[in-house]
Amino acid sequence: MKIIKKVDKMKTYAKIMKKENKLIGFIPTMGYLHEGHLSLMRTARKQTDTVITSIFVNPLQFGPDEDFKKYPRNIKKDEELARQCGVDVMFYPENEDMYPEGFATYINVEGLTEGLCGKSRAGHFRGVTTVVMKLFEIVKPDIAYFGQKDAQQAFVIKKMIEDLRMDITMKIMPIAREESGLAMSSRNAYLTKPEKKEAGILFTSLKLAEESVNSGEKDPKKIIKKMRDSISASSASAKIDYISIVDTKSLKEVRDISGEVLIALAVFIGKTRLIDNIIINTEKSEEGYKNVGTPKERNTVQGRA
Ligand code: AMP
Repeated sequence: MKIIKKVDKMKTYAKIMKKENKLIGFIPTMGYLHEGHLSLMRTARKQTDTVITSIFVNPLQFGPDEDFKKYPRNIKKDEELARQCGVDVMFYPENEDMYPEGFATYINVEGLTEGLCGKSRAGHFRGVTTVVMKLFEIVKPDIAYFGQKDAQQAFVIKKMIEDLRMDITMKIMPIAREESGLAMSSRNAYLTKPEKKEAGILFTSLKLAEESVNSGEKDPKKIIKKMRDSISASSASAKIDYISIVDTKSLKEVRDISGEVLIALAVFIGKTRLIDNIIINTEKSEEGYKNVGTPKERNTVQGRA
């Protein structure tokens, strides 16, 4: 596995791959890799010729009071894990090379970025789309892999690709979870043992919502109340940022559950803000729509070719 640190070198490498007609698969990450990231890399390995992953903790997507400085980093371990997944190149750029002095150009997707996490994290998605656009321009991927874990982010990037008519296929991969159901996340490293246990309630509440929908409940308010109650009842330290049920196309809140909806939440467990979600397609609900998976269930995947 090659390690490339310079933007120019990465561009040259990508150009050579293009010339050789290699299909480039790309997985952008902020590192501190876990099974969620690795599942994306393994899929890219199967589907493309050249697999490139980037590790870049992007300052632009963190608010002033957020965890940019303390975001967990372990580049040596990341190298090892990526190598084991058959990644060809780990692109590990420096801040100054990504954002040279005087940098003043931003990408902003309107509409989809306003609700959900956009409400409590002002400027976050602008930071995400700007860095992803830059990375796309450097790495020139044919297929880019993202996780449903960050569902709003994935939908926003999809919109950017469509609006700008970029020649990139985007694949949104299912959420990798701990046995407890807790969605894997680099930020889980902040949780104490008891907090980690408590955090299982996020997925439990999403399953509760899924059950309600499957048994015919159409009122999002009732479902959200059930979820709130279950979270408060089983975790004293949980502070709900939001729970929303939105249409997967507009990301606007729905008045009743029909078609495909995203049930998304952000909850603080102690000081750590965790997000999770589930996509429910009511048309498929009779056979029990399988959107999520614990490691055992995970192979029933949408988006995997
Ligand atoms: P991050 O390093 O958190 O920016 O994530 C990099 C990519 O991995 C994003 O596309 C995430 O959505 C994806 N990802 C993170 N956690 C998971 C997970 N538990 N399951 C699947 N994909 C994930």
